[in-house]
Amino acid sequence: MNIKRVINFSIFSFCLLLSAPVISQNQLERPKLVVGIVVDQMRWDYLYRFSNRYGNDGFKRLLNEGFSCENTMLNYVPSFTAIGHSSIYTGSVPSIHGIAGNEFIVQATGKSVYCTEDTAVYSVGYGDKKYKKGQMSPFNLKATTITDELKLATNFKSKVIGVSIKDRGAILPAGHAADAAYWFDGTSGYFITSSWYMKELPKWVVDFNNKKLPEQYLKKDWNTLYPIDTYTQSVSDNNNYEELYENSDNTQFPIKTSQLMKKNGYGLIAATPYGNSLTLDMAKEVIANEQMGEHQNTDFLAVSISSPDYIGHQFTVNSVKMEDNYLRLDKDLADFFAYLDGKIGKGNYVLYLTADHGASHNAQFLLDNKIPAGNWDEGAVRKELNQYLHQTFGVDDLVLSLSNYQVNFNYKKITKDIDKQKLIENCIDFFKKQSNVAYVVETAKAAEAAIPSVVKEKIINGYNRELCGEIQIILKPAWYSDSNLKGGTHGVWNPYDAHIPLVWMGWGIKHGKSNQEVYMTDIAPTVAALLHIQMPDGCIGKPILPVLGQ
Ligand SMILES: [Zn+2]
Repeated sequence: MNIKRVINFSIFSFCLLLSAPVISQNQLERPKLVVGIVVDQMRWDYLYRFSNRYGNDGFKRLLNEGFSCENTMLNYVPSFTAIGHSSIYTGSVPSIHGIAGNEFIVQATGKSVYCTEDTAVYSVGYGDKKYKKGQMSPFNLKATTITDELKLATNFKSKVIGVSIKDRGAILPAGHAADAAYWFDGTSGYFITSSWYMKELPKWVVDFNNKKLPEQYLKKDWNTLYPIDTYTQSVSDNNNYEELYENSDNTQFPIKTSQLMKKNGYGLIAATPYGNSLTLDMAKEVIANEQMGEHQNTDFLAVSISSPDYIGHQFTVNSVKMEDNYLRLDKDLADFFAYLDGKIGKGNYVLYLTADHGASHNAQFLLDNKIPAGNWDEGAVRKELNQYLHQTFGVDDLVLSLSNYQVNFNYKKITKDIDKQKLIENCIDFFKKQSNVAYVVETAKAAEAAIPSVVKEKIINGYNRELCGEIQIILKPAWYSDSNLKGGTHGVWNPYDAHIPLVWMGWGIKHGKSNQEVYMTDIAPTVAALLHIQMPDGCIGKPILPVLGQ
């Protein structure tokens, strides 16, 4: 071998050494199961607000054993459920993933679309094929999820299943390539699915449905877990801020769900903490019957706990109902974690708990306590805006909707005679005169607007050209689109809606916490880093290094 050949050979060997995968000597290690838990409308402060009465095995176990990202924020508007679930699992934002609201308007047609509606699929588990609550799929989600990426990374051998009371809470996290997503149908009291996933329910789901657990739970009525006078973190029960259940004339504990169920149906369970128990019962059934965590490849269970959102909307964030909901959820979670320890093995699964958004206090409650707030009557404002525009353009109903705090134009009425830019400027002038509007911007020009960069970024991330109105309205803090002064809501950029819990526990997670600001879109890339798989294809987030011990 001449000297040149020796050098070439050495370089070749060195390159081989460099390119040899690290895993050749040590098997690539992954957890047996990933469990993603999204608690719908869980404000970050609920981790602490009720903690004096949390046990050691639920929320406190997460904090004591796991890693808490204490300042996790949403980085888009509007802050609604479908977007939250999509953004957690895609690591992306509406501008890219295409879920621009729970409902959004296709600008080209003016048609309102529900996030997971899909008339190309049929209902499985209840109703005929055209049963609307079953005609659901992830079709409208235009980016991969971390669950899709796990499927792609393991040649589709990983099992991925989503479970939730809400269809969107099960479908969007489970992604496009999921084995199943099961959601609750209030009419039948069953967990159902669609033909996107399968032609008929597995026998174990039919058996689970036949146990009629919703009825069993609701028969127990809903009373407080502890004597009601010990609920010191809430305003007094049966107050004026609470919305009545249908067919009920007060909101006083105990709530006679056994009676109300007869008139209101099984859907009632969604607005009680029994909805949490039912969801986790179903999650356990999925683990047991689908052998989750027992396959050669990592499996993924995506669970969304929807009832806190229903309870928040109806009774507000600092009601005795909400306090009781979290005390009960704490026990349910403790039980679920113990189940995972027994079935999968402590340290063999990684779990994260987060939320799709937070929530505000009831506006009237804030006003009664001298804090600025208010309700913005979207329907009345739209009517007034259309009258204002009529004066200049002589055309009725130029604005179709103000949903999602956006001006959605009625493009069929915008003929060549109408100067579009003048129309936009007229709308902006109208909103600038409204005392409850903080900012109003032409969304495509948001980058140049004189507004705080945090708000600006959220507007830009939330803006999907095909699915969002051309003007974004930002109300003053604690102002909401809601014509009703009862109950609570969410949907805006402000910290009460944008600040969510994010706690990790289990395989690969060291104990600790960080107050560094991170974003909802960082969750998926952090899971990707833990599993050594690709980030979702629209991901804009970054792995959260302290969670990875870096
Ligand atoms: Zn909600």
